[in-house]
Amino acid sequence: MSTPPLQPTSAAEVQEAVRTHRHLLPRGGGSKPALSRPHEGQTVLDMSGLSGVLEYDPSEYVFVARAGTRLAEVEALLAQHGQYLPFDPPLVAQGATLGGTVAAGLSGPMRQRYGGLRDFILGVQFVDGEGQLVRGGGKVVKNAAGFDLPKLMVGSLGRLGILTEVAFKVFPAPKATATLLVNFPGLEAALEALYRLAGSPIELYALDLQPPGTLVLRLGGLPEALPARLERLQAFLGRGGEPLSGEAETAYWRSLNELNLGEGALVKVALTARRIPALEQALGQAPRRYLSAGHLLYLAWNAELKALDALLQAQGLSGLVLKGATHRPQIGIDLGQAMGHKVTKALDPQGKFAQEPYAAQD
Ligand SMILES: Cc1cc2nc3c(=O)[nH]c(=O)nc-3n(C[C@H](O)[C@H](O)[C@H](O)COP(=O)(O)OP(=O)(O)OC[C@H]3O[C@@H](n4cnc5c(N)ncnc54)[C@H](O)[C@@H]3O)c2cc1C
Repeated sequence: MSTPPLQPTSAAEVQEAVRTHRHLLPRGGGSKPALSRPHEGQTVLDMSGLSGVLEYDPSEYVFVARAGTRLAEVEALLAQHGQYLPFDPPLVAQGATLGGTVAAGLSGPMRQRYGGLRDFILGVQFVDGEGQLVRGGGKVVKNAAGFDLPKLMVGSLGRLGILTEVAFKVFPAPKATATLLVNFPGLEAALEALYRLAGSPIELYALDLQPPGTLVLRLGGLPEALPARLERLQAFLGRGGEPLSGEAETAYWRSLNELNLGEGALVKVALTARRIPALEQALGQAPRRYLSAGHLLYLAWNAELKALDALLQAQGLSGLVLKGATHRPQIGIDLGQAMGHKVTKALDPQGKFAQEPYAAQD
């Protein structure tokens, strides 16, 4: 029997919960339900009570916040100072939290410009499997503290500990943005343009592929410079495309941030652009979008997840189910991270956060 969720409001209460419960599963905003659905015997730790920005110095481009803080709150605060989270986390409107975003390792299209979540995380505080409060990294950009715990927590899916605080560096937001939707005759031509763009000095905030043949390109910078940069981009591609600006542009990206791609499960797959042609042949009709020059696929899968699991295995890819009915959100190939397993053993020797004992239930 699953027990009712606990709602800690301090790190000390998280420590107490870890000491007194056998199996725990942290839940942030519940925006990725496939990752926060408890298994039999797991107690949910609802982290929404551990919320609030603790430190923010716009002149230092750094903030520290409790892990249950909603991204929407952080983004609103940063926007007051013309700053933003350049890794562009998804699911903001659905209530995603900082901790859940770190644990799931999620970045959005604008990561193309400066990098993904793991390039911006500076420090973490978390409770390990023995109830100890652990700190890793710091809130300064230069940090020689040794083992990189903050980066290990990225994509750790709650296996290593319960995040209680995170520190991030932030960047100035672009003063203005513009988007160009460019249609190509098919996948091959679109990918050829994508490669050329990715290897060019043109600085894009987003370089997405909407299969089969549309590239979605986003520019950012000073408003007076954007029209000429847009023209240069069109000249580089030899195509005019459909420009989007102003409220239409903002609404376009806001809607994509919700990842409402279609019916069924929502799955994220890490890949490289060279894998796209084979994957495209196999995926059929599933609505999908490749972000960040083909490094990340978000996919709506409206059939058995077992079939997608097999498809990804055959392609040598690994996927993460964010929404959808499954007790085993990691599908496709097992990344078999020997180092990861050692770290898990060190931080959670009793297996309080482990998912493995439950895998057989599927
Ligand atoms: C202790 C521990 C154990 C884990 N065990 C597993 C496990 O058994 N199975 C599992 O699927 N995940 C496991 N993970 C999670 C996995 O490491 C992360 O989800 C993944 O590395 C994050 O990838 P991303 O694309 O979400 O990150 P992003 O920051 O979005 O990716 C950064 C870039 O790296 C690329 N990339 C990501 N992962 C790999 C990889 N493994 N090899 C090559 N390129 C990559 C992406 O394509 C992307 O271009 C574990 C994590 C930890 C901390």
